[in-house]
This record gives sequence, structure tokens and C-alpha cells, in this order.
Amino acid sequence: MAVPKKRTSKARKGMRRAHDFLTPNAAVELCEACAAPKLRHQVCLECGTYRGKQVLVGRSEQV
Ligand SMILES: [Zn+2]
Repeated sequence: MAVPKKRTSKARKGMRRAHDFLTPNAAVELCEACAAPKLRHQVCLECGTYRGKQVLVGRSEQV
């Protein structure tokens, strides 16, 4: 297995990570039904809907 010859300095690590915060997390979007943030292609955990259909009991509807 390839092993780094030199330890990455704090400056170099910082330079590499300078771009990390610039990219927004595209996997998060707002639910159509309740407008809560949810992960793309996944059931909304707040209201339990997926593409406008009720598929689960949402967090907001549980007793
Ligand atoms: Zn929702």
C-alpha cells in the first residue's frame, strides 16, 4: 500500500481544505409537503412523504 513519505503540514492541509466550505451540500433540499430540510431521493422524516405520497408516519404525526 502506498504510504505518504512526508507528513502534510498544517498550511498545506489548510490550502487543500480552503475549498471545502465553498460547495453547498447538493444532497439536501426542502420537502415539497412541509418545507423541512431533507435528503434528496429519501423520504422526509418530518412528514413521512415521498414525492407527494404518504409512505411513513412522520415525526410530526407521531403520538
Ligand atoms: Zn416533509
